[in-house]
Amino acid sequence: MTVKVRFAPSPTGRIHAGNVRAALINWLYAKKHQGVFVLRIDDTDLERSTQENEDLIETDLKWLGLEWGERYNQSKRFDLYQKAADTLKAAGRLYPCYETADELDRRRKVQLSRGLPPVYDRAALNLTDAEKAAFEAEGRKPHWRFKLEGKRVAWEDLVRGHCEVDTTSMSDPVLIREDGAFLYTLPSVVDDLDMKITHVIRGEDHVANTGTQLEIFEALSDFFGAANLPTFAHMTLLVGADGEGLSKRLGSLSISEMRAQGYEPLAVTSHLAKIGTSDPVEPSESLEALAALQDFSKMGRAPARYDLEELLRVNAGILQAMAYAEAKPRLGAVNADLGELFWDTVKPNLSLFKDVAEWANIVSGEIAPVIEDAEFAAKALELLPTDYGRDSWSAWTGAIKDATGAKGKSLFMPLRLALTGKPHGPDMGAISFLIGREKIAARLKG
Ligand code: GLU
Repeated sequence: MTVKVRFAPSPTGRIHAGNVRAALINWLYAKKHQGVFVLRIDDTDLERSTQENEDLIETDLKWLGLEWGERYNQSKRFDLYQKAADTLKAAGRLYPCYETADELDRRRKVQLSRGLPPVYDRAALNLTDAEKAAFEAEGRKPHWRFKLEGKRVAWEDLVRGHCEVDTTSMSDPVLIREDGAFLYTLPSVVDDLDMKITHVIRGEDHVANTGTQLEIFEALSDFFGAANLPTFAHMTLLVGADGEGLSKRLGSLSISEMRAQGYEPLAVTSHLAKIGTSDPVEPSESLEALAALQDFSKMGRAPARYDLEELLRVNAGILQAMAYAEAKPRLGAVNADLGELFWDTVKPNLSLFKDVAEWANIVSGEIAPVIEDAEFAAKALELLPTDYGRDSWSAWTGAIKDATGAKGKSLFMPLRLALTGKPHGPDMGAISFLIGREKIAARLKG
């Protein structure tokens, strides 16, 4: 069996961490099993789907390195959905309903006030042909509901283990709207069958859907010639660092924004692949390495914590492992290519690549030195070696120590502040050499 999975975003907005996690885990699963990763654009909602969002999804996936083997748009497949709908109608599983949204709402309120679950009462199943004709004559158009069998639908979930959904307690889902538009539920099943999807990997917000959809899978299996049901894996949802739901800011932080802010794609994927698993959250060297580790048995049932601080740490780790040859073109692009020693010296201090500009400026531009003790600075200047080389730092600071008696933090911090203007930063031996004698002297004068 060739593994075939799909990422099925709706192009009604930008994709963010939650969607991308689904894309990533699907991609990694396909990679690990030499399978096919399908990009399926769920654009049945023609009003809310836009070409711009669709293009951005592709840009985002490519930026992350998640290339697809096959690609489809649901909006181009309506004929197939129509045939599937006709099959369900002929089997009595799809029935027309004429209630307006207001009528349904009123009925729900009555049910709730009587302490009953607000489940659709199937009144439309009892409509006579004459009543239906009367509604049509009034200008009403039907929406179509799928008649659930009302049973315990069970499956073995790769993340959640044995799962059961009782469809008795669910309303028959609307599959087709009044205006003839297909809602997500049916096209998704039709495509999973038609494309021979072997594994449906998605968020646990779809667990109830799976109950409904498994009934639809069964109802359509003859149409697709005794279809094989896919295996399901429902991943826990993401929560913020505080364990609460993703904050609005985090939840809507799109991949395009992360790209613009300068996150490394491999940091985003390393982080998302590991959170919510028993593996440590750490930078990975490649998507292939992440794929080798992918295993649903490592995914817990507790929500995955999506913490920007942790993502930044992973990002820093990726930068720290980056060789100069790889960084060089990017350094050049931001006018910060000050050579290999510069990169190797400053990279342990970067959270995001763009932070490098600040260090490039400290080395080659103008800064405001911080001098708290002018006398100490004057002494340091007096002792500054005439030829300041790569190894001069220790001899120089040794001489300052002898002359002033300062040692440890009280020796190094004033020099760091004077030379870089900052209390933290890279190894002073290397950075002071990069700054060079002339600038060191000028900065010590304040
Ligand atoms: N378009 C659906 C969504 O974005 C796809 C869900 C699925 O994977 O079946 O939620």
